[in-house]
Amino acid sequence: MKIAEIRELRVPLNAKISNSLVSFAEHDVSLVAVISDVMRHGRPVVGLGFNSIGRFAQSGILRERILPRILAAPADQLLNGIGFDCEAVYRAAVRNEKPGGHGDRAAAIGAVELAFWDLNAKLADEPAYATIARHFQRQPSPTVPVYAAGGYYYEEDGLGRLQDELQGYIDMGFDAFKIKIGGASLGADLERIEAALKICKSGSRLAVDANGRFSLEEATAYGRAINSFGLRWYEEVGDPLDFELNKQIAGLYTGALATGENLFSLQDVRNLLNFGGMRPDRDIFQMDAGLSYGLFEFGRIIALLEQFGYDRRFSFPHGGHLINLHIVSGMNLGGCEAYPNVFQPFGGYSPQCRLADGRISLPDTPGFGLEAKPELAPFIAKLTA
Ligand SMILES: [Mg+2]
Repeated sequence: MKIAEIRELRVPLNAKISNSLVSFAEHDVSLVAVISDVMRHGRPVVGLGFNSIGRFAQSGILRERILPRILAAPADQLLNGIGFDCEAVYRAAVRNEKPGGHGDRAAAIGAVELAFWDLNAKLADEPAYATIARHFQRQPSPTVPVYAAGGYYYEEDGLGRLQDELQGYIDMGFDAFKIKIGGASLGADLERIEAALKICKSGSRLAVDANGRFSLEEATAYGRAINSFGLRWYEEVGDPLDFELNKQIAGLYTGALATGENLFSLQDVRNLLNFGGMRPDRDIFQMDAGLSYGLFEFGRIIALLEQFGYDRRFSFPHGGHLINLHIVSGMNLGGCEAYPNVFQPFGGYSPQCRLADGRISLPDTPGFGLEAKPELAPFIAKLTA
């Protein structure tokens, strides 16, 4: 068994929305196909993966550095007796890369490494959550908690629009929500939060996300202003690498903080745990395998959290899409994000996934089931034609 070819397609994100820091209109994603020499029903078995939402496609890094290294590795070194060895794929991909500076290459490798997990699951003819659970010696969760991440800033916006959006999520079956803050003044954001709370009914069902925008002074002012709302969490208050800022806010804000979606390596997470003041009884971790070298590295990150005394159920990976749904189920993490109606073709789940009472069911198609997502299917067909 060996790899015949690896292809990549840059797919634009369909999203004319913004958070406090970035517009998503120019974002794109790398969709990767790992084509094996195993034939089933007259066609090769193909593994599919992508990095994640909210960053960029990594076509150049993949084409010029990562894919040639994986394809040059001796075929038997990438196998482990069961399927493809994703640690070996990672090690081939990072050959000749210096430590530190975990940026776009972490997403490039994440996209291709995750495609190998999809391939392994298809070779075993089982959904990816089953493959992942077996690898990490867990029992997969048949449904996982999911929350609706929305409340972006729109060109034509208003409190009524925000409330209608949240009511729409309740009608779909969501019972927890997240909205953006930091893209308006503190006073205007407090009005947004109060308007949202009228729909959500309880602060424990509403999280807010500043997308790393605040200085210590701004994060402090917001933290003091929203402390009494009892919100679900206060996300990415400052620069994701400013661990001292995180620690200072943890010292004054009594509710949960959430961060980690912009930490792309084991070592970055170790720094957060050593210096960020994260509190094991409440704070939330949001590292995303597709942005941090894939599931081999992500598994090491979850193990590190537990070594430091944190509970994996406080891990809610960034990125509301099928790949992370399988990872959350297979690794028994706390829950998943969802972006209803936005970030197509990658955002959200397939029609087979049923949402009820704030939990979503897993699809039973082999692999991550990306082919069963109608918005994504045409891009997969183009990539694998
Ligand atoms: Mg966020």
